[in-house]
Amino acid sequence: MQPVIEVSNLRKRYGSTLAVDDISLTVQPGEIFGILGPNGAGKSTAVETIVGLRQPDAGVVRVLGMDPQREHERLVQRIGIQLQHAALPDRLAVWEALDLFASFYARTTPWQPLLEAWGLAEKRNTLFANLSGGQKQRLFIALALVNDPEVVFLDELTTGLDPQARRATWDLVKRIRSQGKTVILVTHFMDEAQFLCDRLAIIDAGRVIALDTPANLVRGLDGGSRVIFAANGATPLQALQALPGVSQVERSQGDVIVSGHGDNFVGDVVALLVASGAPFQNLRTEQADLEDVFMARTGRRLRD
Ligand code: ADP
Repeated sequence: MQPVIEVSNLRKRYGSTLAVDDISLTVQPGEIFGILGPNGAGKSTAVETIVGLRQPDAGVVRVLGMDPQREHERLVQRIGIQLQHAALPDRLAVWEALDLFASFYARTTPWQPLLEAWGLAEKRNTLFANLSGGQKQRLFIALALVNDPEVVFLDELTTGLDPQARRATWDLVKRIRSQGKTVILVTHFMDEAQFLCDRLAIIDAGRVIALDTPANLVRGLDGGSRVIFAANGATPLQALQALPGVSQVERSQGDVIVSGHGDNFVGDVVALLVASGAPFQNLRTEQADLEDVFMARTGRRLRD
């Protein structure tokens, strides 16, 4: 199958900041492909360059077989973009926004069904300023779909939403894929990437540090898990760190988090704690996730 997106050795610099440093990836038709990484990693710059809004300093980009610089006008007809810092005039009504966006495209889908699909039918005449955060996000998705695009780019879609609105938005993203469209999802939320993405590239400091399915990335940690407990200063951190199978010991808000892997990992940690006599409470284990993948590759937490 011809990839929907092919990026090779992409570089983009702002003055002395190398925002995108040699990124290569391909996206297949019908995938939800994630670009996951901390703030400032270069995700937005990469996507803005891929869609042709920024000119690359080096590298080759093809989207639906087209060069996003030279064939920008043709390409924008076939893609949908919801950008991170999207905004609309406060006094624009929902229907006016859809009407305006539809006027940019040669081919459009009727927007009344779009409003219904995205739960905005009753907000047809509401001004942008009077929409809730979740409604604004749904409007931006509807606007990105008004030309019935083959590929949809969604950048930090759920930032600022409450947990319920985030979950509802995740279902909407899955619905876009079920319509046969390819989705590029930019996010700094590990749980969002894990839940939604078929494959993802983890980006840090402008580079791809891992690229695979979420399950394969976590499996690559060799069955890793975490032991977490509440503790005071008496915990023998150095002895824990020295145990075989332990990869990382850290303190976080009154908890100690011990990361590691292997059949004896959890038992060894608990045995050492008991033998040391140091008090601990509320001990629990968690399976490794993308946060641990990021930690294993960079030595830092994604959420820092
Ligand atoms: P992300 O989307 O992962 O948060 P960005 O692509 O926005 O990352 O930013 C990558 C780096 O480029 C950051 O260091 C950021 O400060 C810098 N940057 C982003 N946009 C600009 C710009 N227009 N001019 C100068 N530097 C920028």
